[in-house]
Amino acid sequence: MARDRSKEQLAGKPLRPESLMMSYGYKPELSEGALKCPIFQTSTFVFQTAEEGQAFFELAYGLREQSEGEELGLIYSRLNNPDLEILEDRLTLWDDADDAAVFESGMAAITTTLLQFLNPGDVLLHSVPLYGGTEYFIANVLPRFGIHPISFYPTDPEQSLEKALEDPRIPDHLRMIYIETPANPTNVLVDIEQCATIAQQFSTEERPVLLVVDNTFLGPLWQRPLKHGADLVVYSATKFLGGHSDLIAGVVLGKAELMQQVKQFRTFVGNMASPWTGWLLMRSLETLKLRMTSQMKNARYVADFLADHPKVEKVFYLGHLSEEDPQYAIYRKQCLAPGSMISFNIRGGKKEAFRFLNHLKLIKLAVSLGSTESLAEHPATMTHSDVPPEEQRRMGISEKMIRLSIGVEHPEDLIADLEQALQAV
Ligand SMILES: *Cc1c(COP(=O)(O)O)cnc(C)c1O
Repeated sequence: MARDRSKEQLAGKPLRPESLMMSYGYKPELSEGALKCPIFQTSTFVFQTAEEGQAFFELAYGLREQSEGEELGLIYSRLNNPDLEILEDRLTLWDDADDAAVFESGMAAITTTLLQFLNPGDVLLHSVPLYGGTEYFIANVLPRFGIHPISFYPTDPEQSLEKALEDPRIPDHLRMIYIETPANPTNVLVDIEQCATIAQQFSTEERPVLLVVDNTFLGPLWQRPLKHGADLVVYSATKFLGGHSDLIAGVVLGKAELMQQVKQFRTFVGNMASPWTGWLLMRSLETLKLRMTSQMKNARYVADFLADHPKVEKVFYLGHLSEEDPQYAIYRKQCLAPGSMISFNIRGGKKEAFRFLNHLKLIKLAVSLGSTESLAEHPATMTHSDVPPEEQRRMGISEKMIRLSIGVEHPEDLIADLEQALQAV
């Protein structure tokens, strides 16, 4: 249950997320005066009286309405735990969400959301490409439950969103639109507002169509899908939110009545994050703005360097979109900055790409992204190796492509590393 943010004011003005992130939702007097929220490494909580235990359960199981000012008491760490509750309150701040739920992985957040809201016979409309795990779950697991996926390619006129909407199953069965923007690894954008309009157009009283956006790539600093009409936002918190390559976690956030359903389902699936993961994420959130700002600035230097390099054929970077590109209008509408993910095509093919990767010294050769250290990988043979070659081509992935996640190192050191690795090609 989310806190009332309107009370967080100073001299009559609301406090900003980065100012609240160190203390929001935590009361030192409940923890021996500890300045920082301790790790509540406990499975269960002691009730002061039997009456209190009864009252807590009545609320938790929805047996009665919450009375004015009443908060859900602590019961059992699968239902609630201070490290998760305080973290969830803080996660609502950047996205201005009613409520948030934390999971032990991004995939747990995504699959729990899909399973909570989709029923047999429903159609799920989704953008391509999606994160590999999401794509697999939608293509291979959901059909076992009678849920029908229909896909669209944001920049391919042959398989556009408009074309997908001509499918005869859409008007009576569309239940969810699921998009990932920018897409991995090409940075292709999907228009959130346009998808929200379509969701509304096909919504009925009995079957509202939900728009769910995976916002992992730009994070809450540079894109806030709820403001553009999304109902729910999902994150792999393993990436920017965690930001130190030392944890796996996921988040769902959005409208209160939907979040209540997500959290109830989570209670029964039992895939909530642990107190330790919650504590690590609270620590990470304190520096989210610092890290993401530094990464974003570094990425601009790196992208400019790559664009001018004779051994680089093409750079895929949001900060380089030209004003004539239809993608530019979407960028201006929904993105606050270009973020820190860059892909580029090296001149040559797989041999040149591998030679480059094998010569990097400071930048590490690893999948994942959004962390303090810079990482490089080869989508065609690594993150997207299970995508058939024909499909890879359609997505714009080739064996020349290298994906970079830019960290907080000194930009000149990053450029020196890229320069020497390109020279080795
Ligand atoms: C990594 C990632 C996921 C999956 O998250 P995990 O934390 O690895 O389960 C989902 N979506 C995107 C865009 C990702 O990058």
